[in-house]
Amino acid sequence: MADQIQGIHHVTAIAGDANRNIDFYTRVLGLRLVKVTVNFDDPSAYHLYYGDELGRPGTIVTFFVWPDRIPGRPGAGQVTAVAFSVPAGSFGYWQERFRAHAVRFEPPAERFDETVLTFYDPDGLRLELVAAPDADTREPWARGPVPAEHAIRGLHSVTLTEGALEPTAGLLTRLMGFRLTAADGSRYRFATGPGGPGSVVDVEVRRELFRGRVGVGTVHHVAWRTGTDETQLGWRSRLLAAGYQVTPVRDRLYFRSIYFFEPGGVLFEIATDPPGFTVDETAEALGTGLRLPPWLEPRRAEIEAALPPLTLPVEPARTT
Ligand code: ZN
Repeated sequence: MADQIQGIHHVTAIAGDANRNIDFYTRVLGLRLVKVTVNFDDPSAYHLYYGDELGRPGTIVTFFVWPDRIPGRPGAGQVTAVAFSVPAGSFGYWQERFRAHAVRFEPPAERFDETVLTFYDPDGLRLELVAAPDADTREPWARGPVPAEHAIRGLHSVTLTEGALEPTAGLLTRLMGFRLTAADGSRYRFATGPGGPGSVVDVEVRRELFRGRVGVGTVHHVAWRTGTDETQLGWRSRLLAAGYQVTPVRDRLYFRSIYFFEPGGVLFEIATDPPGFTVDETAEALGTGLRLPPWLEPRRAEIEAALPPLTLPVEPARTT
């Protein structure tokens, strides 16, 4: 299928403090800050993007910074964990690193044929490092503080917590082209495109849980990859025909997006791979200053005055 979804494009969550968020994702996790901008729908809030050298689709996590939002509550109808792919054998390094940086983490556990190290960001967002038996060939950001042999390769998967399996599984498999690849207890694994890290979604069925509440420390939405504007319109047509309420195409400058709620309540986005983050600054300069889309640039002085000052990462400072 020419327009098959190739995996996760990005995951967007909510943070309470911009500088604390930057410090954690760059200095502790070793990702590159690839874009500093504002929420295009709410220019009073920062929108921070992290990823590999260029912020390639499948490596991107982003944050809306909303200090005044109440904390979220994990629950049904949410992305409840975001997993990054790391090389096998790196967990000793990461546990030591988490101890050194006072990061809360849990003992490693087995899941399917992989090992998982669960930890939490400063806002309490549940994150995981996953080491798969097959090597993840993606290149990590080489100028971060984490040695390349241990560095994050990109996203591995997201976990959707749902009150029931069938509605969400039906959307994934019958409409979006995912296939069920494994099941263990209440956890069902689906993959799309080539499979492997970056193209995996787990559905965890928790019938007893209340609905989650989106707020600081929870995921706002997950975005799936589509190749072109044309394939995106194809997805929009098929979703509309299946009865989903889908937004018109929105220009996010670095990609174009459509949004809809999956049946369990998680906000899904389908985002184009192009044009990427070098559309408004060079690869070398990514993330080094506040970028605004052309339609907000005339309001720059007003927008900058309302935003808290940032301490941008200085590279490279390799630490343990
Ligand atoms: Zn998004």
